[in-house]
Amino acid sequence: MTVLNYNCHERTKDPSMPAMSKYEPVIGFEVHVELCTATKIFCSCPTTFGSPPNTQVCPVCLGMPGVLPVLNRRAVEFALRTAMALNCNIPERCNFDRKNYYYPDLPKNYQISQNYACIGTGGWLDIETPAGTKRVRMNNVHLEEDAGKLIHPEDPGADYSLVDLNRAGTPLIEIVSEPDMSSAEDALAYMNTLKNLLEYLEVSDCKMQEGRLRFELNISVREAGTERLGTKVEVKNLNSMKTVLKCIEHETWRQTRLLEEGGRVMQETRLWDEAAGATRAMRSKEVANDYRYFPDPDLVEIHVTPEWRDAVRAHLPELQEAKRRRFIEEYGLPEYDARILTNSKPVASYYEAAVAAHPNPKALSNWMMTEVLRELNAREVEPADFALKPAGLAAIVRMIDEGRISGKIAKDVFAKAVESGRDPAEIVQAEGLVQVTDAGEVEKWVDEAIAENPDMVEKIRAGNTKTVQALVGQVMKKSRGKANPKIVNELIAAKLC
Ligand SMILES: [Zn+2]
Repeated sequence: MTVLNYNCHERTKDPSMPAMSKYEPVIGFEVHVELCTATKIFCSCPTTFGSPPNTQVCPVCLGMPGVLPVLNRRAVEFALRTAMALNCNIPERCNFDRKNYYYPDLPKNYQISQNYACIGTGGWLDIETPAGTKRVRMNNVHLEEDAGKLIHPEDPGADYSLVDLNRAGTPLIEIVSEPDMSSAEDALAYMNTLKNLLEYLEVSDCKMQEGRLRFELNISVREAGTERLGTKVEVKNLNSMKTVLKCIEHETWRQTRLLEEGGRVMQETRLWDEAAGATRAMRSKEVANDYRYFPDPDLVEIHVTPEWRDAVRAHLPELQEAKRRRFIEEYGLPEYDARILTNSKPVASYYEAAVAAHPNPKALSNWMMTEVLRELNAREVEPADFALKPAGLAAIVRMIDEGRISGKIAKDVFAKAVESGRDPAEIVQAEGLVQVTDAGEVEKWVDEAIAENPDMVEKIRAGNTKTVQALVGQVMKKSRGKANPKIVNELIAAKLC
């Protein structure tokens, strides 16, 4: 659901910035995606997020001597799905390599990854930018294992860090693009399009706040209109799309200023420092040789037979375009609704669950496109974590359809349910919001309103139909939104017209 609005003109307002128009950023991404397999890539430990530290580990993912990895077939299939959807070449044979480095959250002292023969090579992803469709080329898609996590105590005086290896061995794919993007808008479109595709492929839940989807940026600048690439830096520690955009803005400015002042950009890895709103140098960029890659002798090569490849392709989940067409045919939705609802897989799934609970597709679509999407965006929350569940939304629309609550009350109930997570039917019951359809009771409010608004009555009697609605409004106000508007209208017509 992460769709950010980004104003490309903001960054040109800084008067201290050199002539920005002369330089443009050149941007590529390395995207790490944790796959949503039930178990890890080389052992049968679960991949559940948020368990107590070091409770999902075994000798294999702890890197004990003498153990042997066994490849998770599902992880390979998820990587294949992704590579296919990104139009990659899928070689018939690929293998795993050891990437050697020392890090406390990687007890083996090497990461099992793919360097020489990746599961997918080449390919592309088309993105929609303000300037039209743009094709971003892929370099490769490869499969690897995640490392553990270091936990740094909040106490600034603490002189230790803790290691949690629950994440070690979680299957990851890394999607490496070519540097084909040249603005923050391009980068945003790429991130959103890729996230959306991964969700549709059902290979990851893409929860950025849980580190399931992680963006690393490589960025250089060059004089606009020229072809030659400048020296790039890589930036890590970008934990949201917003941060990526801030980082692009900052790095474009930093590198441009360096060049304008006659300096040069160093090839290095930098870290985003959220507090400073700036990047800082982390280490000079390592080259592939530093890792001493070599084929992992414990794992046989992966043989992607044409039959296997075809089977994976045949079982790809329903993608956006197919779902959009089905929404039009199955639910009778207008093209416009179907397009908005299928722009994000989690939103589409939420909608379908609501329709299953109360089959009024168009009314539910209206609620989704206005109230639900507005709240999701404002709260920056994924549909799965939204306090109002699909059944709750269905209940609200059902209560309207059954005449139990008015549309206006429904909006209030919605707001309360979103705020508190309470069940809408329970809110209506507990707060006595059930619509009053008893004509005798409604008539009392109508009579009061007539008695209190003689000028309106006069206008209505003189044939001013617009005033009828104003008087209906007065009655609704008296009933605190509970009077059935149809009955109110009928009573006013009977009494005054
Ligand atoms: Zn394990």
